Parts: sequence; structure tokens; C-alpha cells
Amino acid sequence: MTVSTIAVLGTGIMGRPMAANLLAHGFRVRAWNRTSAKARPLAEQGAEVCATPREAATGADAVLTMLAEGDVVEQVMSGPDGVLSLDRPPPLWVQASTVGVDATSRLVELAESAALTFVDAPVLGTKQPAEQGKLVVLAAGADSALAECAPIFDAIGGRTLLVGEAGAASRLKLVVNAWVLAVTAATAQSVALAQALDLDPNLFLDSIEGGALDVPYAHVKGAAMIEGEYPPSFPVTLAAKDAQLVLDAGERTGVDLAVTRAALHQLARAVELGHQDADMAALFAAVRP
Ligand code: NAP
Repeated sequence: MTVSTIAVLGTGIMGRPMAANLLAHGFRVRAWNRTSAKARPLAEQGAEVCATPREAATGADAVLTMLAEGDVVEQVMSGPDGVLSLDRPPPLWVQASTVGVDATSRLVELAESAALTFVDAPVLGTKQPAEQGKLVVLAAGADSALAECAPIFDAIGGRTLLVGEAGAASRLKLVVNAWVLAVTAATAQSVALAQALDLDPNLFLDSIEGGALDVPYAHVKGAAMIEGEYPPSFPVTLAAKDAQLVLDAGERTGVDLAVTRAALHQLARAVELGHQDADMAALFAAVRP
């Protein structure tokens, strides 16, 4: 089957630019977002903005979910106005939200019970790569479904990594997010320590620049920390949600994820300090003396 119309459910920081790139690549998009104001600008780019997930899915060839967490995805699919309330829901479901191991298993079962083909497709990259269509798509599912999704992935991403059966991509996403959280927390502590030792914290970034210890992310997040400006790219609340999903995976497997535990502790403190909607670089506020 060739996919030409996609229901995009969730047009937040990530879903909206993903929908815009699908439109730019010639797909028809039927968009829904709980807060409809965030979906409306897509109408100017040619999307049909819909009042419910059910309406968005009507007549679509595929559904793409890009929502906060697993329970929300479940609700949007199977609630009273959900996609599965249709007699003939779209046969293909591309699940791109970060939901972790357990919720992915539940969503796979939900798809099976409704005879939908499920593609597990979390993404790497944040607001700017989403806008530029340069996300890295971690894709897992049946070979035929992955082949059908290839034009979708090419529209939203710069690279697609095929990782096996549904569930494997969400597991890999946790592995990578453990790394993202570690780099952010490590950057925060070196910037804070530099300041506390009466050094210009830019000297830390200058010291690692271009060498084996350098990571571009340290410069992006480090600059935000030094400026004390945290416009949301990956919000604190979602980073904390992901840290918990990583820790759940650690619990299940017996891996000691002390670094992720520390990052979650700092994110929780950032929430206490009122930074819940800020970018996760705001965990710096919890590290400073
Ligand atoms: P976001 O802007 O906060 O979007 C979250 C979306 O979930 C919005 O559409 C929001 O609707 C919806 N939502 C939340 N609670 C809901 C509920 N109870 N019922 C219905 N809809 C609800 O965040 P985002 O960054 O786009 O993240 C979306 C997903 O992508 C998350 O799983 C996140 O972990 C993952 N992700 C994010 C990034 C990143 O850097 N930001 C990168 C990769 C993956 P409203 O607009 O009405 O609140």
C-alpha cells in the first residue's frame, strides 16, 4: 500500500514540524492536537486540522502518534473519540512518541487486537532537527511495514536506522536517552564547578573543543546554562519522564544506572524551582551552589 494521507496526532514541539515536513514532501496531513491552537498553524501549510483523533484518522492511510507518554497514546488511540472507535481505522500505525518498554508492549498488543500494523519509530533529535527534517528515526517492525514507511521517514528524518522487531527501537531510544541525560548532567556539573572555582565556564567548553572529549551537545546545553536561558527544546518534564523510563529498564535488567538517577534527581529539583516547562538544560539550576 502507498501511504498518501497521514493522521498526525500530537502537534507539540516535535509533532508540528514533523507534520510540516510531511506536507512539504507531498503527503496529505490530517492533524489533531488536544490544544487545537498548536495544530491550527499547520492549516496554512495545507493540513486539515481536526477536532478529534477519530476525525483526523478518518480516511487516512496511516496514523502517526507524537504524544507526551504511553498512557496518552493509549487514550488517544482507544478512548471514546479515539482512532480505534472508527469502523475502519487506518491500517498502519507509526508510533514515534518516547514511551519506554512496558507501554510499547501494551501498544503492540493494542495494535494487534485492532488488526493494525504497528511500527515502533521513536526519533532522535530535538526541535531544530525536527524543523529541518533531520531527525534520526529508529525504526522497528515488520519488513513490509518498514518499506511502506520509508517515504515517511525520509520526510521527517535525515537517517533511518532499522533495528529489528517492534519494541527494539523503543529500547534503543532508552539507551540513547540515558546518554543524552548523562551528557547534560555532566555539562551542568562542569559549568557549575568552573563558576564555583572562579573560572569563566566558557574555558571548560574551549578546553574540550575539537578534541576527543568534545560533544556538540555540551556546547549547545552549556551555552544555555551559562546564559541562564532555557527556551524549551526538550522540556524538563519530558526529560524526567524519559529518565524514569530509563530507570525502569535498569530495574528490570539489573543495570545500575546511577548517572541517570542523579540526572532525574536534578530534574526533579529543577521542577521544584519552577523550571518544569523550560529546556532540560535547566537542571543546571539544581546543580549550582
Ligand atoms: P510537547 O510539545 O510537550 O508535546 C506533547 C504532546 O502530547 C502535545 O501534543 C500535548 O498536547 C500532548 N498531550 C500531553 N498530555 C495529553 C493528554 N492528556 N491528552 C492528549 N494529549 C496530550 O512535547 P514534544 O517534545 O513534542 O514530545 C512529544 C514526544 O516526543 C514525547 O514522547 C517526547 O518524549 C518525544 N521526544 C521529544 C523530543 C524533544 O527534544 N522535544 C525528542 C525526541 C522525542 P497539548 O499541546 O494539548 O499539551
